[in-house]
Amino acid sequence: IKREDIRNIAIIAHVDHGKTTLVDSLLKQSGVFRANQVVEDRVMDSNDIERERGITILAKNTAIYYKDIKINIIDTPGHADFGGEVERVLKMVNGVILVVDAFEGPMPQTKFVLKKAFELDLPVIVCINKIDRPEARPNEVIDEVLDLFIELGANEKNLDCPFVFASAKKGTATLDYNEDVENMDILFKTVIDNIPAPEGDTEGPLQVLISTIDYNEYIGRIGIGKIERGKISTNQEVVIVNKEYPEKQEKVKISKVYEFEGLNRVEVESATVGSIIAITGVEDIHIGDTICDVNSPEPLPFVKISEPTIAMTFSVNNSPFAGREGKFVTSRQVRNRLFKELQTDVSLRVEETESTDAFKVSGRGELHLSVLIENMRREGYEFQVSKPEVLFKEENGKKMEPMEKVTIDLSNEFVGAVIEKLGQRKGELVSMTESNGGYARLEFLIPARGLIGYRQEFMTDTKGNGILNSVFDGYALYKGEIPKRKVGSIISFETGESTAYGLYSAQERGILFIGAGVQVYTGMIVGANPKGLDIDVNVCRKKQQSNIRASGSDEALRLSPAKDMSLEEALEFIEDDELIEVTPLTFRIRKKILD
Ligand code: GDP
Repeated sequence: IKREDIRNIAIIAHVDHGKTTLVDSLLKQSGVFRANQVVEDRVMDSNDIERERGITILAKNTAIYYKDIKINIIDTPGHADFGGEVERVLKMVNGVILVVDAFEGPMPQTKFVLKKAFELDLPVIVCINKIDRPEARPNEVIDEVLDLFIELGANEKNLDCPFVFASAKKGTATLDYNEDVENMDILFKTVIDNIPAPEGDTEGPLQVLISTIDYNEYIGRIGIGKIERGKISTNQEVVIVNKEYPEKQEKVKISKVYEFEGLNRVEVESATVGSIIAITGVEDIHIGDTICDVNSPEPLPFVKISEPTIAMTFSVNNSPFAGREGKFVTSRQVRNRLFKELQTDVSLRVEETESTDAFKVSGRGELHLSVLIENMRREGYEFQVSKPEVLFKEENGKKMEPMEKVTIDLSNEFVGAVIEKLGQRKGELVSMTESNGGYARLEFLIPARGLIGYRQEFMTDTKGNGILNSVFDGYALYKGEIPKRKVGSIISFETGESTAYGLYSAQERGILFIGAGVQVYTGMIVGANPKGLDIDVNVCRKKQQSNIRASGSDEALRLSPAKDMSLEEALEFIEDDELIEVTPLTFRIRKKILD
């Protein structure tokens, strides 16, 4: 049957284009809230780092009602896909809303998810938001969106998709932006008319495919997924199976079944095909599991979780001289936090080491681990991290290394620089396609080692506008050493207002910056925006250097330039550089919100 009372959609947006405000407004106008109830919490994107780095990491669920139809809205991760999450989210839904700022137009960071949506043949609704902005240019933005669609291989149906013009801020939406409107009814209607209702067999034996895992200290693991067939009820006996692990056949009793209402999970007696549900009471539940009727253990196929390729050691400094400024400084606290992370992050591994103070943490590349490190530091955990190392494998006596398939979208002017850099890092250019509008897409096959420290160089080289995605591609014969860059080679860095020069330090990933006003920073860039810079440096150091003012703990010093330095002084500084240990997040240039 078709569940005409449900729509399942995913929402795609570049950071700051108004996704959160839009969902807030939809919530306020939908049946979930009473008229006088105020939505206080911002809905999605609760993670600060996501906002700062312009990526969304966790998929979150919200559900709203329009008339009697329930609309489940699932947030999609932005351009960083740590383990096949984008595809798993998109497999749960029957359509997507692409939110685009009426002034900025579509941004390259949304391409990855959008392309996946086209590949899965999902209908798209374009919501051009912030139509109230005086500088809004809706007509041009429509053209830009359509150009992007063509570039991404959209079919005719996609090109004929509905465009809704919204002011999420005012809570209005219209199909004709010259018209005065009072609410978002049009957007609700467009979703209901254009996104198909989920379909399935209600009578058949139960199948729920688990797409996300959530964790709560009081209730434990929570499996979230869509009912693909049949019906589920509280206290039902089920069997948990997995396509990848045929030996898994676990009979359990579901304790509770939840559906989503607004921002909350609410308990229900039962739920049926097409519903997105959360279940509790199953401790051993994992992404990719299928929950089945006890008599019909038929696992569904799922998008595989990518393997970890990079490891770092997290260690607690137990020296009596260690700074103790964080809230959580013991190895037990760090250990518990790491194991808690495992409950929800499926591409992460945590292992104990010979030292009780150190843990080996493996994940999907440097960015993946650095997001975790930064999150933990913000929460007040104090620890040191080692340089990232690649996880090699022995096969038939040969050393094999993980390979990554890298997809890069960038403006044509930067193609040369990127090909050269990745070439030096043993990357092999697999394909290159140029599109109208001066953009190109490059695909490389590269040893995972070659990507260490590259992301920030890439951001610099493409002036913060390129987009880089990588997925694990399997193991290949070890390709030999990657030549190290010469110490002291100069890297120039455009800031828009001025050019900063960096000196490559002996430490593999350390870059010393001599910026405008000859200020010195040590660290790495992970993001850059040519329009406005706000520099925040976080350097991990073993010993304090007197020429840099530092605050914070011994492991994570927050540095600000204390005095201007000459080039000679700066050079002396890097020659001393065994003293410096740089974390992957050391140099951050935050985009200023220009609104
Ligand atoms: P997100 O990062 O996509 O979730 O974006 P937010 O919802 O946080 O919005 C980013 C900024 O844009 C905030 O300052 C919002 O107040 C502003 N904003 C969102 N929607 C609108 C709109 O319709 N009109 C205007 N003028 N500003 C908006």
